[in-house]
Amino acid sequence: MRPFEYHRAYSEAEAAQLASSDDTALVAGGTDFLPLWRAGVYQPRRVVDISRIAGGELKVEGGRLKIGALCRMSELADSAPLREHCPMIAEALLESASPQVRNRATVGGNLMQRTRCAYYRAVGAPCNKRELKSGCGAIGGEHRLHAVFGVSAHCIATHPSDLAVALTAADAQLTLRDSNRERRVPIGEFYLCPQEHPHLETVLRRGEMVASVDIPVSTLNSRSHYVKIRDRASFEFAVVSVAAAIEVSQGCVRDVRLAAGGVGTIPWRLRAMEQTLLGAEVSESAFRAGAQRAVDGAVPLADNRFKLDLLQRLLVRTLSEL
Ligand code: SF4
Repeated sequence: MRPFEYHRAYSEAEAAQLASSDDTALVAGGTDFLPLWRAGVYQPRRVVDISRIAGGELKVEGGRLKIGALCRMSELADSAPLREHCPMIAEALLESASPQVRNRATVGGNLMQRTRCAYYRAVGAPCNKRELKSGCGAIGGEHRLHAVFGVSAHCIATHPSDLAVALTAADAQLTLRDSNRERRVPIGEFYLCPQEHPHLETVLRRGEMVASVDIPVSTLNSRSHYVKIRDRASFEFAVVSVAAAIEVSQGCVRDVRLAAGGVGTIPWRLRAMEQTLLGAEVSESAFRAGAQRAVDGAVPLADNRFKLDLLQRLLVRTLSEL
């Protein structure tokens, strides 16, 4: 095992200071980090334990739900204000991992978790994300669960977070903080598609951490739903998932936001379908027509092409249930 320094931070300022060194990991629940460490995939020189820092509360303030990044997934899923103002986020949390993991894992850790691509997690297999220019085992290999949107010739790994998909449909903003300043970034601009640099996954700079997430309280978000299709009923990542929020007035779609999981290298916003649905009369046939636009720009391979059909059907089902 690679030797490492261990630090425990008791404030965000202390954590940010410690995180300003290269090759440092911030760890709270550790549910994603520890398996990566044990597998030898990610063994940083410095580990900063941030689990004792206060910052895990949820508040309703200024027309927004504000969630501390250290909030445990299970606590957030149980929160009455969240269930009232943005049910799709509570549903996405409850569809994630297992109760044991949700009791330990935090919101920030969930948003920063690494891909489940088996080649990434198998040291020795070619993987551009783990070792730049080593190749991609999935392209030409086992890729049934891989992405069809936002892919590049260097990486086709899906983003694993259910929560991030629901936050994308909810138009959430992230507050990123380092030892000197903070900035707000829409979640739609936080994740990076792999292009030529699959190891770069977010816009976080060295020393920055996700401090909080906030979501607008709106009629749209209060009528929302998350549905996930997976290979087994528990403790499994999405084959395809959909987060949808819709506002209907006089039988027509007044506003709608849609995002998909299990299909993109980042949580995938379905803007073309949203545009098609705006103003349309609410009906299954309108949802079906809109869903045809959901696969615009997809680049499937032989074994993950089925996701295009599955995504369209899941969109119709999710909107119909809403
Ligand atoms: Fe690595 Fe990405 Fe290829 Fe998976 S899809 S092997 S993570 S480069």
